Amino acid sequence: MFLSVFDIFKIGIGPSSSHTMGPMAAAARFLDDLRGGAGKISGTARPHRLYASLHGSLAFTGKGHATDRAVILGLCGLRPDTMDPNSADGIEAEVRRTGRVSPEGLGSLVFEPDRDLVFDYGPALPGHPNGMILKAFDAEGEVCHEQTYYSIGGGFVVTSAELEAAQAGQAPVQDGAAVPFPFETAAQMLEMGAASGRTIAQMKRANEEAQLGAQLDEKLDVIWAAMNGCITRGLTQEGILPGGLKVRRRARSIHRQLEGERGQNLSQPHQANDWLSVYAMAVNEENAAGGRVVTSPTNGAAGVVPAVGRYYIDHCVGADQQKIRDYLLVAAAIGGLIKHNASISGAEVGCQGEVGSASAMAAAGLCAVLGGTNAQIENAAEIALEHHLGMTCDPAAGLVQVPCIERNALGAIKAVSAASLALRGDGTHFLPLDNCIRVMRDTGRDMNDRYKETSQGGIAVNLPEC
Ligand code: SF4
Repeated sequence: MFLSVFDIFKIGIGPSSSHTMGPMAAAARFLDDLRGGAGKISGTARPHRLYASLHGSLAFTGKGHATDRAVILGLCGLRPDTMDPNSADGIEAEVRRTGRVSPEGLGSLVFEPDRDLVFDYGPALPGHPNGMILKAFDAEGEVCHEQTYYSIGGGFVVTSAELEAAQAGQAPVQDGAAVPFPFETAAQMLEMGAASGRTIAQMKRANEEAQLGAQLDEKLDVIWAAMNGCITRGLTQEGILPGGLKVRRRARSIHRQLEGERGQNLSQPHQANDWLSVYAMAVNEENAAGGRVVTSPTNGAAGVVPAVGRYYIDHCVGADQQKIRDYLLVAAAIGGLIKHNASISGAEVGCQGEVGSASAMAAAGLCAVLGGTNAQIENAAEIALEHHLGMTCDPAAGLVQVPCIERNALGAIKAVSAASLALRGDGTHFLPLDNCIRVMRDTGRDMNDRYKETSQGGIAVNLPEC
């Protein structure tokens, strides 16, 4: 499997890549099956009714993450990258009122969410904590197609067969025959860089161009415009975030304070952290509101990479807008290594895999655009990831708000500190990034399920009485 920069950075909608975008994408795949792929129905039989069940973390935190709405929208034929987030509420209400969906090419199908969309709080499905089963029934009530999907983080969705193939080692991160630098570990990445004399950004660019051809820069610019647009929009919004926790948006007011303090001689040096925080919080408030965001590498952690990129442009001496492309390429290279060798799913390894990964990606990207060597970049990613190890996922009420919004702010601050520390050394360091990724994977495996996006432990069960 070639893991492109555009697999890591996907334009979609909030609040969750694994619990919102993934289930929508699974529904789209299921509809494609019904339209003529694996689920083509023989003879005169036609799908009449659809059914979906959510398992594991998708069930436990699905309501807070709007997974039910995502499945409804997905079965209507909508896709996260192209749908208008503002239309979601109206479409969901219409399906709940009529009990029908009308995806293109399949006519009008029965789907009554109260009956046909089941949150199954029993044991998780065997392949991954985020499982879902989709079924189609014919008019006689017989199952005419069924598929099990796993939402494995970052909006990636695989069938049970695809997951088994990946676990059997049949799906390498880069197809060696198809890309010039098929690194699957950080050590290989450094070796290939040393042998070729290329930077990580140059190797990643060559891989992308071998797969995608021209227009790479254009597409990278679209991704950055979406990230930056999300920051800008989030800085102008105010009010209470949806979901019932009554969390108030803060980015706009903090941004106003910071703007008011611009140019004052008495500003504290750590004010730079507040700028990083406000950029990240703007994104994650947009995400929590179900707005347009870019998975980086997930929605819950979507604020870190944009915040550090914007910090580079707005605050770093000698910043060059063109280098944002390299920033994204290097960040994606690190995200790909983590996803391939561990996980970017909070349901699988806790928040160390989401905000920890995002922080490592941003640290590497910033180190690169500030002139770091390949060794310093690897060091920056390792520092950022190492100091998120063990971080649990325990979102209050299953919403991607507390601790997620502030957590992105702190992830961005750590990313900048990690890049800066790495740039003050020569790249030699104690724990290689590959080992750190392995520690993250093993720690996630040993972590109690209560701390892996089930909202059954930690902050989620220690909320004040309202
Ligand atoms: S705590 Fe971290 S992993 Fe869990 S939902 Fe929030 S951002 Fe994602």
